[in-house]
Amino acid sequence: MPPYAIDKFIAEPKIAYFSMEIGLKNEIKTFSGGLGVLAGDTIKSATDLRLPMVAVSLLTKKGYFRQELDPSGRQRELPDDWDPSAYMTRLPEKVSVGIESREVQVAPWLYVVESATGGRLPVIFLDTDLPENTQEDRDITQHLYGGDLTYRLKQEIILGIGGTRMLEKLGFEIRKYHMNEGHSALLTLELLQRYKKDIEDVWDERLVWDADRVRKLCVFTTHTPVEAGHDKFTYALAEKLFTDADMVPMRVIMEFAGKSALNMTMLALNLSHYINGVAKKHGEVSQVMFPGYEIHAITNGVHSYTWTCDSFKRLYDKYLPGWANEPEIFVRVGRIPYEELWEAHMEAKRKLIDFVNGETESGMDYDTLTIGFARRATAYKRADLLLSDPDRLAKIGAGKIQIVYAGKAHPKDEAGKQLIQKIIELSAQLKGRVKIAFIQNYNMDTALKIISGVDVWLNTPLRPYEASGTSGMKATHNGVPNFSVLDGWWIEGHIENLTGWSIGPASDVPEDPARDADDLYNKLENIILPTFYDNRKGWVRIMESAISKNAYYFNTHRMMRLYVTEAYIR
Ligand SMILES: *Cc1c(COP(=O)(O)O)cnc(C)c1O
Repeated sequence: MPPYAIDKFIAEPKIAYFSMEIGLKNEIKTFSGGLGVLAGDTIKSATDLRLPMVAVSLLTKKGYFRQELDPSGRQRELPDDWDPSAYMTRLPEKVSVGIESREVQVAPWLYVVESATGGRLPVIFLDTDLPENTQEDRDITQHLYGGDLTYRLKQEIILGIGGTRMLEKLGFEIRKYHMNEGHSALLTLELLQRYKKDIEDVWDERLVWDADRVRKLCVFTTHTPVEAGHDKFTYALAEKLFTDADMVPMRVIMEFAGKSALNMTMLALNLSHYINGVAKKHGEVSQVMFPGYEIHAITNGVHSYTWTCDSFKRLYDKYLPGWANEPEIFVRVGRIPYEELWEAHMEAKRKLIDFVNGETESGMDYDTLTIGFARRATAYKRADLLLSDPDRLAKIGAGKIQIVYAGKAHPKDEAGKQLIQKIIELSAQLKGRVKIAFIQNYNMDTALKIISGVDVWLNTPLRPYEASGTSGMKATHNGVPNFSVLDGWWIEGHIENLTGWSIGPASDVPEDPARDADDLYNKLENIILPTFYDNRKGWVRIMESAISKNAYYFNTHRMMRLYVTEAYIR
């Protein structure tokens, strides 16, 4: 990586994009899953489009964790260290933030995202692992989503307050602050303090806080469709940690962040002029959850170039030149000859099957319909729905279906860990009838292999918990149709028998979990298997529509253009 001076980036005012996690590439282990990969894709599209942006995150040097399963399917979490100096440059500047009566020093690392379009976008990773800090404070930026609530709040202080100070220290002029989820919401407090009105003899102390000015500067994207998922801290903990001399008084914080607890979502909602959910349905669900706020929706996307496998890149380069920086060109995918589309898919599939057979004992083959399911192992995603009636699955699919699974459970998510164990157990039970492989340590590299190499991408969330979902969008970039519950993005992307298939009732009909499994098995048996094996032309037509109707729209280039016109220039 060529050394960059920061001066190159501070000439024009920027939009600052704050995210607790950012997944730019597999080796930079500052991500755990969907939220981080979305942040990385956002930044990559912003770079391609040459948007004036700077991104801020934490330098989690010990990463999230590396997953290993023992023979019983029990997840073990191993350290996932990496070396920042191999990818980025330590800058000499420092800022300090008062936490628990100590002055915690924060240093920046500069990573520069480079695009073939000539775009260059700086990403600032914040690091407290400095000799002048206590061991406890050095640890703050080490583990992504590790530790307890105290640890989490310290991280959010570093991200929100430390990050805002760092941008100023480095010389950035910021014209908009975009909070990707509530983790960075403390930045609003730093801005309240910075833009405090200098009035003498005010009769009401609240008049000095220029909330309107801060609001005008802030954009908030919420990702969590359930109240329980939002970051909350007790004010007792906040009192203990917030010792910074320039922190706004607690009574002001309570006015914006909630009376009973420091609610990061409330704080962001109260101090942003533009608020959005990450899919149309999620916008509606959020609107019901937060009456009194105007909640918009900008549906997520994925970075097309990152999430297209090599064989499809070659195919698109040949027939759809310019596609990577203008995914709308996917509208012309019908120009690609049927045989070449299928062959590009088979190349990706053979690569995946070879990989799976190298990693597991499953003995998969190239010609069997292969279903993929890979994402965070957590209860609402119901990874086991497909296996919920093993005998029925075997009856429908013996010799005709093989399944590739992957996904990490958060170290504290016991239900998620049990889900993985259950899949391992059921795989053994189905041995000889349906081949099932669990690929360990799901990450960005294995994700690309799996989403591009399977024939069908399955998703079975309990509604309305899947705010958007993005792995299905990645699949569509490789001509892989989705088979999914109508939640998140799929409500918008689904056209039955054209872009894929739904599972269960329409999105406006009450949830019926029992019916979901039945519907899944029925469609598999009566529509998906017959189309795949007996109507290959029809199948390739569906692959084509997945690209021309889904990849065409569900990409971060379209998404970023919307953020610009709907949020950033308002
Ligand atoms: C895309 C991606 C996700 C998000 O997947 P969803 O199915 O949308 O939850 C999670 N982890 C990794 C490594 C990814 O690449």
